[in-house]
Amino acid sequence: MKQSILYFFVFIMCFGCAEKAKNTETEVENSTINSSENLNESKAEFAIIIHGGAGTILRKNMTPEREAAYKAKLEEAIRVGYDILEKGGSSLDAVQKTINVMEDSPLFNAGKGAVFTNAETNELDASIMDGNTLNAGASAGTTTVRNPIDLARVIMEKSPHVMMAGSGAETYAKEQGLTIVEPSYFYTENRFKSLERVKASEAKKENDAKTAFYDADIKNAKFGTVGCAALDKNGNLAAGTSTGGMTNKRYGRVGDAPIIGAGTYANNNSCAVSSTGWGEYFIRAMVAHDISALMQYKGLSLKEAAQEVIQKKVPELGGNGGIVAVDKNGNMVAEFNTAGMYRATMNDKGELEIGIYKE
Ligand code: ASP
Repeated sequence: MKQSILYFFVFIMCFGCAEKAKNTETEVENSTINSSENLNESKAEFAIIIHGGAGTILRKNMTPEREAAYKAKLEEAIRVGYDILEKGGSSLDAVQKTINVMEDSPLFNAGKGAVFTNAETNELDASIMDGNTLNAGASAGTTTVRNPIDLARVIMEKSPHVMMAGSGAETYAKEQGLTIVEPSYFYTENRFKSLERVKASEAKKENDAKTAFYDADIKNAKFGTVGCAALDKNGNLAAGTSTGGMTNKRYGRVGDAPIIGAGTYANNNSCAVSSTGWGEYFIRAMVAHDISALMQYKGLSLKEAAQEVIQKKVPELGGNGGIVAVDKNGNMVAEFNTAGMYRATMNDKGELEIGIYKE
């Protein structure tokens, strides 16, 4: 009798456990369905966004030929990255190869077409970041490396360091077999004339180098840095930025472009960001990382986070510029507080959008 009562209780307990397990399974199943439904709703397979610099880019100052040339080059560049992503390639490759096209074009302030320093040299900065591993590479102040974004990538992947500068970075580029050019390769007449204009306006002002360097001419100048952010089919985000810096820079000045967290940031848990603008302010505001952090820790959307930093934080400090970014679901944002920003996006359906001005 005692034994049969015991069997009865054991049976009831097992039945209860089995029911609970079944319910839990159903709950898990439901939540899986819900979250995958949500993902399917908003998740793009891959996405790519680029910029070619922000600044006082006004329709009234642009000729139709010049506008067409910018649009054609932006399209050529983004299609290179799009093709890589479409074939299942990595976001890092897409970012690097897309930036190479803009570095090789004199239209942009990166690679060929880089702006001049006060000493009439060209000193280039670049960085790249892998959102999957949080690995990053950057180079600053190089004068002979044809494609600084390639150097940033080898520093990230082949060296134990994150950032290299000046002649050391150039020695490493040579050792790694990157294309080395004469410094004169970076000369373009347009950029040299810009330097002459800025110097002439500086000479008119008081003999205070610091005030002159941070004057309204710089604030209103078109910046022209290039950058790219991409999401690949494996869900990996990457971002990269390449620049000649700011016209008339001196004393070995380094801007935000090679600073991880300021000019470039990527994290698979949030987004990938590339910046362009007045570098000193972008460093102080830690622009790219701030956008990622607002998403990751505060739950803001990419658009909300970008607006918070670009429309509030940077201008409140006194700076200007913009960013392009893509989040882990493939949402893309181009946010800027200047009159214009050269930019383009392509989604996984192959739809291309190119913009220059605010509207
Ligand atoms: N951010 C760059 C720098 O300060 C300039 C630019 O974006 O054009 O070096």
